[in-house]
Amino acid sequence: MVTSSPESLLTGFNLRHTSQRIHILKAFLANPHALSHTDLEQKFEGQIDRATIYRCLKQFLDVGILHRIPDEQFQTKYAVCSTCEHEHHHHDHVHFNCENCNMTTCIEQATIPNIPLPEGFTAKEKILVIQGLCRNCNA
Ligand SMILES: [Zn+2]
Ligand SMILES: [Zn+2]
Ligand SMILES: [Zn+2]
Repeated sequence: MVTSSPESLLTGFNLRHTSQRIHILKAFLANPHALSHTDLEQKFEGQIDRATIYRCLKQFLDVGILHRIPDEQFQTKYAVCSTCEHEHHHHDHVHFNCENCNMTTCIEQATIPNIPLPEGFTAKEKILVIQGLCRNCNA
């Protein structure tokens, strides 16, 4: 689990503390689920414009504050990296997408097993998304 503050994350990754960046990071840290660009647009409607949200997400991805997860509708969602080093993402955890509420959650305790690839293939990113019902929807 991530316990950092937006300010300390920005400092740690050598990014300037702009109020937009702080607001966007706050939204991620306050939310246990992954967020999409649309989620952020709705949340910050009238406060932060689309292009700025897009730019912030890209910067956060590049430096290694956020990672990307596709959901079943091929919409990209983003979640805070908790084990990545600067500019070096190494994600091998499983993601869970609830087919009822469409929330995507990082399952950090479940790692993707090493999958042997045929000769000549190089893996760049491993993404494993499990579909089903989350705890809330199961209750
Ligand atoms: Zn990462
Ligand atoms: Zn659910
Ligand atoms: Zn994740």
